Amino acid sequence: MDPEFVFELRTCRWAERSWPPEGTQDVVVARQLGTKRRRWDTVVVEVDADALARRGRFGRRRLDSDLLHVVRNAPAEWAWYRDALPDPGYPWRYVRETIHRADDRGVLDVRKQGNRLQIRRRYRYPDWVERIVAIENKPDLDASAARALRGQLERDVALSLADEVWVATRSTGDRIEPALLEEMPVEAGILTIDGGDAEVAWYPRSLDVDAPGTDILERPDGGKYDQSAARFEYVPGEEKRAKRLEIAERAYERGWRSYTKTMRPDCRHFQLRHEDATMLPYCGAKGRCQTAAECSQSCSRFEPEPPAWRQYGWPIDGGPGKGIQRLLEQRRERERPS
Ligand code: SF4
Repeated sequence: MDPEFVFELRTCRWAERSWPPEGTQDVVVARQLGTKRRRWDTVVVEVDADALARRGRFGRRRLDSDLLHVVRNAPAEWAWYRDALPDPGYPWRYVRETIHRADDRGVLDVRKQGNRLQIRRRYRYPDWVERIVAIENKPDLDASAARALRGQLERDVALSLADEVWVATRSTGDRIEPALLEEMPVEAGILTIDGGDAEVAWYPRSLDVDAPGTDILERPDGGKYDQSAARFEYVPGEEKRAKRLEIAERAYERGWRSYTKTMRPDCRHFQLRHEDATMLPYCGAKGRCQTAAECSQSCSRFEPEPPAWRQYGWPIDGGPGKGIQRLLEQRRERERPS
């Protein structure tokens, strides 16, 4: 049976091809993204394809929150940066550093007039993000897994940073048990995935991403003697909007195929196999799909690609491992809506 990691890759590939379950929508899909306190397995960013193409003018790398502050507020005409930009809420010297970074990346016009640093917008930053959907992957969703997940999903709903929250589970051919559905917050959707297809077992509710959210930091375990109060903080809508855009920018940069950056495609046993329209990493030594964690520096069965593999056809660009990385990178480019 697939490990959770492989299931996650299948979910990503399905979302890339078929999101939303009934309809069509341009999307950017990424894995393992979120905030400091909460990381989602799969993130689907629904996009406006024209605006996304214009986002491409800022380059493939993400714009972090400081860069976003500068490029989104840069004026159409030359102006002193302190006149042009809203107060950042932190010292202006950091803004100057960001302006120089933006200049180095070619996403902002910058000049010195006397001793004043002036800026001008090079491109208007487009409104490319429409909705953000978070999917938690639980291939084996039994009652205890559902109970364990419930707290996390309730936090997601309370904060409402994503427009929708889903759980994806492996299809067993049986109907999802009503008792299992009862373990889940009603706002969370449930998808059952079978190879390259998915079905909706429960539709989620759209969450109010513009309203202030509640970040539940700690909650009592509810035991008989637990008298403690929950700890939480309010998150203003404006802060949520900024965070959502940062998540979308990270998704844009990273996509979901970047796993080869941490795995070992330079190992002679590393292969990519095509199953249900998804390229999956496969370990020839173990005879199965390996997880990202086991396919690492510490794998005891790692063997480097023989030097001969690096000749004939890969004299400059490295061996098959490098070829695998290039292939996934090309795929990522091809799948990016433009
Ligand atoms: S032997 Fe280890 S490093 Fe090599 S492909 Fe398999 S899991 Fe990865």
